[in-house]
Amino acid sequence: MIRSQQGYFGEFGGRFVPEILLPALQELETLFGGLRDDPTFWQEYLQLTQEFSGRPTPLTPLRRLSKELGGANIWLKREDLNHSGAHKVNNVLGQGLLVQRMGKKRVIAETGAGQHGLATAIMSARLGLDATIYMGADDIERQYSNVFWMRQLGAEVVGVETGARTLKEALDEALRDWAASVENTHYVLGTACGPAPFPELVTYFQSVISIEMREQAMKQIGQLPDEVVACVGGGSNAMGAFSAFLDDTSVKLVGVEAGGVGFKDGEHSIRMLPNTGETGIAQGYKTLFLQNHDGQLGDTHSIAAGLDYVGVSPILAHLSQTGRVTPESASDNEVVEAFKLLMKQEGIIPALESSHALAGGFKRAQQMRSDQHIIINLSGRGDKDIFNIAHAMPQPEWAEFLAREAERAKANAQS
Ligand SMILES: *Cc1c(COP(=O)(O)O)cnc(C)c1O
Repeated sequence: MIRSQQGYFGEFGGRFVPEILLPALQELETLFGGLRDDPTFWQEYLQLTQEFSGRPTPLTPLRRLSKELGGANIWLKREDLNHSGAHKVNNVLGQGLLVQRMGKKRVIAETGAGQHGLATAIMSARLGLDATIYMGADDIERQYSNVFWMRQLGAEVVGVETGARTLKEALDEALRDWAASVENTHYVLGTACGPAPFPELVTYFQSVISIEMREQAMKQIGQLPDEVVACVGGGSNAMGAFSAFLDDTSVKLVGVEAGGVGFKDGEHSIRMLPNTGETGIAQGYKTLFLQNHDGQLGDTHSIAAGLDYVGVSPILAHLSQTGRVTPESASDNEVVEAFKLLMKQEGIIPALESSHALAGGFKRAQQMRSDQHIIINLSGRGDKDIFNIAHAMPQPEWAEFLAREAERAKANAQS
């Protein structure tokens, strides 16, 4: 497992936060430092994920698709089969255990597309914690189905009306809350980013993915895979899929970022390829950020809401700089093709985020030999995201159905 040096991975990482938050981050670091090597704590975490989230998730061979594409044998690590439909629940369940140990009763989180907010609301309901979720007002409009579920699960969802009314403003608001409530409140960070110790802590919980993957590969394939591929938003599912293989130099690790619609500013969310992200400090840590000429955070685009982010895990920034992780990108169009192919050939409906890993992985598999093996991390399922996916692939029948459904909902609410 990768370890930071005082919160740094090479030149990236660190902790750049207002003084008032330092004690809480130090408390978290000390607690995590004392638990990370304790096998009974890991066992407690595994038991929670087994009882509640269906772990271990399977390693599924794609026999038909591998034959159709030609090249390597393709396998999927099925994080889509977690409770709530994605890998995010691994991290929040782990942080829930830390919250219990700290004796705190309340958690807060910020969420863009709503997936992390939903996972946090689910964990809070399960563990009996109060949850407040900050979300940009525009994001609430775009992702209303997640808001609906968060509220049903008992979380308070606060719409943030300032600025561009999206993730960045929600983050500022959540940090303001935390500064005022840090005595009894834990901030649940959703990906392997942010101030230390979060990148390392989130990676630790998500590493359950590659620990299982390694064991399953030995059992089902009889050897380690030649390549492991994951999509990269903030980097948590990728670090989860990579971390147990970091010392296995025969295993190539490939992170696929959102290539969007082009390479101009604002058309993509690629941060690790040449001429994209630049070293900077924002949102509490140092990493490769997409930036404008004047050093302001840049605009991003992706067909997948979960990959639409300006920064990237400092651990991945470091590993891509040292060459251990190979960065790649997939365009929106390639993503839609891979999405359709997996559905039609294998009967699995992937998330649009995960379809980036599919697009990158399928392309690589075709360049590989038939005795080689590639594992693609399927970070989430798509059927829960029907509104997003229908938005990405507009169809008249769906629009007409929604119009009729709106009429029915209105009539129902009035009666
Ligand atoms: C949130 C999300 C991602 C991106 O987040 P990472 O931290 O990069 O893993 C990827 N896939 C799915 C299904 C998601 O919900």
